[in-house]
Amino acid sequence: MLDFGIAGKKAVVCASSKGLGFGCADALAAVGVNLIMNARTAETLANAADRIRDKHGVEVTEVAADITTDEGRAAVLEAAGHVDILVNNAGGPPPGDFRDWTRETWIKALDANMLAAFELIKAVVDPMIENKFGRIVNITSGSVKSPIPMLGLSNGARAALTGFCAGLSRQVAQHNVTVNGLLPGQFNTDRIESLITNSAKAEGRSREDVRASLEERNPAKRLGEIEEFGFACAWMCSAHSGYLTGQNILIDGGSFNSTL
Ligand code: NAP
Repeated sequence: MLDFGIAGKKAVVCASSKGLGFGCADALAAVGVNLIMNARTAETLANAADRIRDKHGVEVTEVAADITTDEGRAAVLEAAGHVDILVNNAGGPPPGDFRDWTRETWIKALDANMLAAFELIKAVVDPMIENKFGRIVNITSGSVKSPIPMLGLSNGARAALTGFCAGLSRQVAQHNVTVNGLLPGQFNTDRIESLITNSAKAEGRSREDVRASLEERNPAKRLGEIEEFGFACAWMCSAHSGYLTGQNILIDGGSFNSTL
């Protein structure tokens, strides 16, 4: 049986009570990783943590906090102690027309989808270097590769994080610390449901109709499942993935049409 080589290590998985973050937490726990799980809503987080404990028997510490704030990150880092694996994630910014956005709108998006990850990386990367092991995974978006016009805040903030991490990954690779991005296409989560509702309203269509078009347009003829996303995260964090760094892996059912 394939051993991922990370059983007993400790992962902080941000924004992980639901959706893609939960998928990553679940997959890491399946290969024996102990977890610090985080989200803002304590009850949903507690349920999610219980499900993972019951299923995989790993240690799970829950920290109900807003990861986009200094206090939230401090609480997560304090509960964690030494971090072997960091999965950065947060809620995505709202869609909209760029004409309506102010500096404050941008700062909020950057706080959530760039600076929260940056601050957490800054806090954990030197101890990872000393320990000669670290895996940092940023959950970003397919929009990093192929912009989604109505999600301009996401396009901008996530591209900024990706650019920073491209350089960082080359600075830390020699210490067996890797930094990579996972780029979701369209996955079955609450976030995609709200985007579907938004499009349905804007286009005067039913939600079912919008969802069916999304599925039809995708080469896989369906949306992705969080388990599929989580598996890729566990692979990226494996002890055997030390030579995989500075990469941004798109998981989108083949939706982005390119040869490479
Ligand atoms: P989701 O199903 O809505 O789940 C979001 C999770 O993040 C929840 O656990 C939520 O819990 C937590 N969260 C949100 N804001 C937080 C904060 N400030 N601090 C701590 N936890 C927070 O979303 P998802 O679909 O998994 O999306 C995850 C990320 O991937 C988002 O940035 C999204 O834009 C991006 N993405 C998703 C897709 C997709 O198809 N699903 C595609 C491209 C990009 P609380 O609300 O209780 O905090």
